[in-house]
Amino acid sequence: MNLAELKEAISSVKRWSTGDHRAPNKPLTIAYVLSKYIQGHEQLFSYEGEIEGDVRELLKRFGPPRPIHYPHYAFWRLINDGFWMLENAENCLPEDNSKDASVTCLKKNRVRGGFDQESYQLIRNNVAGAVELLDMILIDNFPETIIPDIKTQLGLSPDVASPRRRDPNFRREVLNAYNGRCAVCGFDGRLNDELFALEAAHIKWKQFNGPCSVDNGLALCVIHHKALDKGVMTIDADYRVKLSSKLNGGDSVDHYFVQYRDKRILLPRSAEDRPKTNMLQWHADEVFLG
Ligand SMILES: [Zn+2]
Repeated sequence: MNLAELKEAISSVKRWSTGDHRAPNKPLTIAYVLSKYIQGHEQLFSYEGEIEGDVRELLKRFGPPRPIHYPHYAFWRLINDGFWMLENAENCLPEDNSKDASVTCLKKNRVRGGFDQESYQLIRNNVAGAVELLDMILIDNFPETIIPDIKTQLGLSPDVASPRRRDPNFRREVLNAYNGRCAVCGFDGRLNDELFALEAAHIKWKQFNGPCSVDNGLALCVIHHKALDKGVMTIDADYRVKLSSKLNGGDSVDHYFVQYRDKRILLPRSAEDRPKTNMLQWHADEVFLG
């Protein structure tokens, strides 16, 4: 196997949840392991001592809104993807009726896991390639606004070498439809007549086949764009701003957020350009941290 083949194997890792639901367990586990290799970690990771706490924290911060996260699923199931190995796992093979080893068994047997020897060597011999691979995984699973936060959490430099090319038409059409203003706060700052800090946000992420069409877009200032992608806020079917109960902070939070709670956003004049209900529902289910 060479690095290109490893890249291919990693990019074809199947999401274990069906449909449009976000299940970033495998991508975040691989990203975690890669980031540690880049920082000099040995080949294998302890489930109990490393993966469980660290990957759960990543899922909590960057995963979908779920009451509980299960880091052992990906740790166990990656064995089917061609570059992963487990040590001391023999006694944890699941019973017929279950696909996963139990957490208790993983801990009792001190199971360790990570890339297999060959893949690990490829990564260790090519750190730049590993960074590229890590960026690829993140770009495939998260919007650009979130990736620097994940990389920082992983202990790496936040910049991304090769961001996915933006669709220039999407940006232009969305900003036009919203008359060059943030749909939430109305920000329309210009420098020499040119808009700044105003962006076209996807409601349903591109990574989950959200279309680059105006009815899946919102013109948002940088603060409200980041808040949408982070799950700090969502827009309900009546086009009203909903805020996460987990949002807190000082007066500026009142200024940027609380004053807009339950207020209707600014909408495009044409009804067909307004956000589609199914896109808004996806965001509420998969991103919004209610
Ligand atoms: Zn705004």
